[in-house]
Amino acid sequence: MKPKSTKIYRSVSVKITVHEGWCKACGLCIEFCPKKVLVSNHDGKPVPEKIDECINCSLCELRCPDFAITVEEAEEKNESSKK
Ligand code: SF4
Ligand code: SF4
Repeated sequence: MKPKSTKIYRSVSVKITVHEGWCKACGLCIEFCPKKVLVSNHDGKPVPEKIDECINCSLCELRCPDFAITVEEAEEKNESSKK
């Protein structure tokens, strides 16, 4: 199930998905990101402002109590690694 207000952010190496409809703006993901990639928007929901610095550690995903943020390897990278 994918909520309506899903936002997808991409860099060359990662894809970060934020399900804003599930996010309760607790700020845990922002606090626990070791690279300070995430900032909060006007509603307190996470935005990966420095996505190029994301190291795909998944801490934001693991700390989120509401399964509202996920981090994956970028699809482009997966494609090129198949060659
Ligand atoms: S995967 Fe790690 S580095 Fe990337 S946004 Fe989440 S906590 Fe930060
Ligand atoms: S930890 Fe989850 S619920 Fe809390 S602000 Fe981040 S995405 Fe939203």
